[in-house]
Amino acid sequence: MAVRLRRKPWAKEWIEKHPEFVISSPSQMASRWEEMFGNNNPIYVEVGTGKGKFIDNMSRAYPDINFIGIEKFESVLVTGLQRLLQDRQSNVRFIHGDVIQLLDYFQYGEVDRLFINFTDPWPKTRHEKRRLTYKTYLSLYEKVLSEEAEIHMKTDNQGLFEYSIESMSRYGMMLKNISLNLHQSKREENIMTEYEEKFAQKGQPIFRLEALFPSNDTHSGDG
Ligand code: SAM
Repeated sequence: MAVRLRRKPWAKEWIEKHPEFVISSPSQMASRWEEMFGNNNPIYVEVGTGKGKFIDNMSRAYPDINFIGIEKFESVLVTGLQRLLQDRQSNVRFIHGDVIQLLDYFQYGEVDRLFINFTDPWPKTRHEKRRLTYKTYLSLYEKVLSEEAEIHMKTDNQGLFEYSIESMSRYGMMLKNISLNLHQSKREENIMTEYEEKFAQKGQPIFRLEALFPSNDTHSGDG
């Protein structure tokens, strides 16, 4: 699904005024998150966080976890910032940046869970490399995730879901808790994202999976 962007010329300035929530130099943050949050709680990252609703709700439900949302468009991210400014949860930060720069933002093993929620499907074959579950991205995730950390993915897009299962399996990842209709099959608490709410209201099925990288000694990673 294409993201319709409304230009917000004031977004950049607004974001720059809040370096306490939107990190101004994220490329200098690798290995400094513990210092930034003032604790060594686990770090959960959402790639392509959009307007930050998922992070907002997760951070309230799990105050002992630190959440970081990465979003490349200021005009989208600014909504997440506005939301955060209401209650100023101390366990949330945003990065205005691109997931491809992940190794600048995080040190090896610094992230304890990674969420890929309703990411752009890029359905054309020639755009495969842009999908956030393409092997290049998986290799970045593998580096920043700690041992046995999980990736949790949700999408409304069957094509992207099938592709991701294939891409992750080829990479050697282990998949579990796969759901082809999350809202009918879920048993535990599910915190919805902005896009998920929209699709769920239309009665569309939500696909979900959890994935883990193999332990270091068994992995080739070039699949
Ligand atoms: N995760 C949110 C949700 O579920 O409601 C937003 C989903 S929206 C379809 C995908 C978001 O990912 C968009 O805001 C887009 O700008 C962002 N995005 C896509 N590729 C990205 C990248 N490489 N780096 C950072 N953000 C990205």
